[in-house]
Amino acid sequence: MIWKFYKLTILIILFGIADPAWGQHSSGSTLADSRAKSLTSQDIQQTDTFKPSDYIEVPVASEKTMRYYETGNVWWLVNMILGVLIPGLILFSGFSAKLRNGAQKLGRKWIFIIFFYYALYASVVFAIYLPINYFQGFLRAQAYGLSNQSLLEWFVFNMRSLFISMIRGGFILCGLYLILRLSPRRWWIYAGVAAIPLYFFLNLVHPIWVAPQFNTFTPLENKALEGAILTLAQEAGIEDAQVLQVDKSRQTTTINAYVIGMFNTKQIVLWDTAINNLNEEELKFVMAHEIGHYVENHRLSKTLLSALLIMLTLFFIHHVSHHLIDRFKHRFRFNDLSDVASYPLIVVLFTLASLVTGPINNSYSRYSERQADTFAIDLTGLNHAAATAFVKIQHKNLSNPNPGWMYTIWRETHPPLGERINFFNTYRTEK
Ligand SMILES: [Zn+2]
Repeated sequence: MIWKFYKLTILIILFGIADPAWGQHSSGSTLADSRAKSLTSQDIQQTDTFKPSDYIEVPVASEKTMRYYETGNVWWLVNMILGVLIPGLILFSGFSAKLRNGAQKLGRKWIFIIFFYYALYASVVFAIYLPINYFQGFLRAQAYGLSNQSLLEWFVFNMRSLFISMIRGGFILCGLYLILRLSPRRWWIYAGVAAIPLYFFLNLVHPIWVAPQFNTFTPLENKALEGAILTLAQEAGIEDAQVLQVDKSRQTTTINAYVIGMFNTKQIVLWDTAINNLNEEELKFVMAHEIGHYVENHRLSKTLLSALLIMLTLFFIHHVSHHLIDRFKHRFRFNDLSDVASYPLIVVLFTLASLVTGPINNSYSRYSERQADTFAIDLTGLNHAAATAFVKIQHKNLSNPNPGWMYTIWRETHPPLGERINFFNTYRTEK
């Protein structure tokens, strides 16, 4: 009991440091909540208000929203620690070397050994994470009324994700370890460069092979809306886009939209939750925002930035791993980074580096989101609809409109919602 209290106190202190917003809103309910399986959506009253008027006020976050935000921060920290701890244990216990030995028995050829190793590794990690994922991904989402999945649907969804990750991860690992073998000194440069075509390839195949495994994509049912969106796309210079709706309400109640694909797989996708909750003007704004990402070439700039950061991360791994392998090779049971058993070592170092590279990626992402917002207002002049859309999104997605700065730096890929609503209130297009 005392030990439990002690652990909770450490968590509070850690998070007090990690996010100053904690102190402002914490009322003691957070910690109980992070473990409380009895919490139901009825227990949490939603009080976010929505007043349509010319000037749209930034919504005041309800107690439920704040609780979701605060417990989300704790979970982020827990996940970060586990993201180092679990592969670290697999590495230091020599278990990774055992997995490699098992893979060597299953597949004689080098390429199959890598595939089998990754399949074994991913299955072990999946099994370890299953109870944690059950709580975070299922119970927690249910408790906050954000999920529409039954337990079985949730499980099938996760099994499919695991299977896809085994194939994708297997190929990526083959490429990585091949480069490591061919060029033990400069592998980090080649792997960083190879990340660029790889990213484009994954982007190309995602709408064809991956996304349809989870959801059904159909042409937009509302033909008037489809026409309006295609007109917007044409005005912005996009001729061959497909506008689709996806049945995301099978999994979630939250609202979203995105653009994906390249060449003839180019798609503008609206979640059906967006269609069901936003009016036509609001949807037009959301689509104009997505079109903005296209026109401003954010896909390319984000890919180039990511590739650069991956290269720097691999450079860091290249240098640090040699020292660690020299020091701990008897525990690790491998002598060289090009041995596939080193994979958890790469994961640990990658996760640690992401504490630095993550904020850089997030910062650029927020910049590109502001650009897309500006583009969408310039294209449509729908300031009011943009602001009301975000009030609804805040309400539905339980977003904290004014998160703490630590949250913004490490977790926000989008500008805080309050900032976006204020921007729509004040920005006037020059047209
Ligand atoms: Zn965006």
